[in-house]
Amino acid sequence: MTFADRVTQLTAEGAYHMLARAQALEATGRHIIHLEVGQPDVPAPEHVTRAGIDAIQAGHTRYGPPAGLPALRQAIATAAGQQRGIEVKASQVVVGPGAKPALFFPTLALVHPGDEVIYPDPGFPTYAAMIGVAQGVPVPVPLDEDHDFAFNLDRFDRALNDRTRAIVLNSPSNPTGGVLSRAVLEHIAAAARERDLWVIADEIYARLAFDAPVISIASLPGMAERTVICDGFSKTYALTGWRLGFGIMPEALAERVELLLTHSIGCTATFTQYAGLAAINGPQDQVEAMVVEYKRRRDRFVAGLNAIPGIKCRLPQGAFYVFPNITAFGRTSQWLADYLLEEAGVALLPGTDFGSGGEGYLRLSFANSLENLELALDRLTKALGKLDRQ
Ligand code: PLP
Repeated sequence: MTFADRVTQLTAEGAYHMLARAQALEATGRHIIHLEVGQPDVPAPEHVTRAGIDAIQAGHTRYGPPAGLPALRQAIATAAGQQRGIEVKASQVVVGPGAKPALFFPTLALVHPGDEVIYPDPGFPTYAAMIGVAQGVPVPVPLDEDHDFAFNLDRFDRALNDRTRAIVLNSPSNPTGGVLSRAVLEHIAAAARERDLWVIADEIYARLAFDAPVISIASLPGMAERTVICDGFSKTYALTGWRLGFGIMPEALAERVELLLTHSIGCTATFTQYAGLAAINGPQDQVEAMVVEYKRRRDRFVAGLNAIPGIKCRLPQGAFYVFPNITAFGRTSQWLADYLLEEAGVALLPGTDFGSGGEGYLRLSFANSLENLELALDRLTKALGKLDRQ
């Protein structure tokens, strides 16, 4: 069987693969601690779930407008605009089933075959996939561990050329937990303005920041008209399986993205959108409590990891991932991830699941109970203690 070039470059997401391997081990009776999958361990807020169930019972189970319910688009425009300090109109908001469509469809709408798109390496695997499907040229730019995993700005500057069309940013980042500083954002924004580039800003973890509010590049001068913000409900409101996300972009682009949605997805489940409306309009105390709890886990987990000889782990500023440096063990990330699954019963991901720039790192999610995190630290300490270090 032969396939179009645009799909032959696609590969599976590592997290799904590791989850399947961990579950296969569990089926043999092994106890596994799951730190591989990136989703909140808490249930969605009760009033949000209730709004979804009520909407089904009220018959909100039919087709809706492709770009989303007008009330939800307006609520997102107000809330997401306030959060970032920018003016957003409802017509700039496009709702989709999850945040991924707000990455994929704007990329399809903007990137011509052969256009170059800069993206972070290590980075969320969808970036390389969507650029490839759009028949653009993926240009990975390495991240700098010493600068909170921001782009290496020297490499970023050298990656820019006349074929560059867009830059993908992710702050707070999956897999590193890094948050881009104002200075870094200003550097990138200046290049985007000067060269007339688009920025696709994946801000899905923007509410999960521990030490300071996240700055959106769209709030910098002259940037709203060239930025696509990708955000959603999966992480903030623990709604991963409900599938609800959105993009914020200039109106003309939103119209093109709406057409892509019309002809592919059709529309997002109507009752899910009612749940989203309740999430935005209802109390935010559960989100705030979740951030406090993640911060507690982060502090404990990072301290525990750094106490393991050979591990060097930065304190992530956002999201719920740690990205420890494991180069001292002199093994590949994949080897170490396999070893730790088998030997310690801890499922985690090799940094290379996020691009070749992830070599030398592991990604662990701390969206798990403190009790499980403590147990994982214990097991990792024992298993890693058996290895030689350089
Ligand atoms: N962007 C990043 C950085 C993510 O980590 C994820 C999910 O893991 C997404 C986008 C996709 O979110 P959703 O599940 O809402 O499509």
